[in-house]
Amino acid sequence: MSTAPLLSVVMPIYNEQEALPLTVERLRPILDGLGVTYEVVGVDDGSTDATPVLMQKIHQDWPEFRIVRFARNSGHQAALTAGIHRAFGDYVVSIDADLQDPPEKIPEMLELAREQGLDIVYGVRGDRGTDTFFKRHTAGAYYWLMRKLVGQRMPNQAGDYRLLSRAAVNALKAMPEHQPVYRLLVPWLGFPSGEVVYVREERVAGSTHYPLSKMVRLALDSVTNFSASPLRLATWLGLFSFLVCIALALYTTVAYAVGSTVPGWSSLFIGMLFIGAVQLVCVGLLGEYVGRIYSAVQARPAYFVGYDSAEERDRYGTGE
Ligand code: UDP
Ligand code: MG
Repeated sequence: MSTAPLLSVVMPIYNEQEALPLTVERLRPILDGLGVTYEVVGVDDGSTDATPVLMQKIHQDWPEFRIVRFARNSGHQAALTAGIHRAFGDYVVSIDADLQDPPEKIPEMLELAREQGLDIVYGVRGDRGTDTFFKRHTAGAYYWLMRKLVGQRMPNQAGDYRLLSRAAVNALKAMPEHQPVYRLLVPWLGFPSGEVVYVREERVAGSTHYPLSKMVRLALDSVTNFSASPLRLATWLGLFSFLVCIALALYTTVAYAVGSTVPGWSSLFIGMLFIGAVQLVCVGLLGEYVGRIYSAVQARPAYFVGYDSAEERDRYGTGE
């Protein structure tokens, strides 16, 4: 492609031989009807079914459909990362390949971003009626926890269906982490943003590639990506044990004075409590340091410059 397109649509695809043709059928007229230059970046996450062959065929009669293929399955988030990093467009929309995110919302997102000069437009799920009871509740718990970690800036129920401007994409590319959790990192950027509400549809064909194990991994990645507070747990436990230790030491001393104990019990008991508490505090202390090393290694930029009259073109360049 000689000049950069206006819009890139990034689509992680993993073993979607049933869903992909239907997705393309619905997506293409919408993008063609936009009247802007675009590309679709199909990221094949190491599919093992007929998906790669299908993608080749799609590419042949739809030149705007680009193929990025992974050597092996690396996960939805990794596929998203590759797609976002490789997209050329001034705006980048990420969307699932199973039509759960209705592509009809893409024009709306683009219009909102261009009209209001927004850098991020979140697709927010208005209704999860078609999801299973289990998925709704695990997702509910996930979003609750994540809002606690990132703060209220994170729109509730915003998944990976969203639009990013080139400025936001460049800011994300400046992040040194290997495995970013975009649904946390994007709100963390705090760039001007809007929302488009949509109804999460049922998967058009095939079945989910997000079993419980992958959900747990995403949740763990999300927590450890954004917070060192689990490391601090030992410190609090240690302090708590100290308090308990003092109370029990008083009790043991009284019991000893009254003479209602077996010889040796008081000293052993107090010693045991004391050592336990000291150990927990020490582990907590280590945690504090590990936490700081961790955030130093993450090396996230401290700020993004939104505007500088001297270099108007370089919006959100990291401040160096
Ligand atoms: N996906 C992927 N790699 C994986 C799992 C999923 O690229 O290891 C893609 C999948 O093809 C789809 C999107 O990520 O486009 C979301 O996956 P899925 O629909 O299975 O998850 P759910 O919607 O059930 O959470
Ligand atoms: Mg899905």
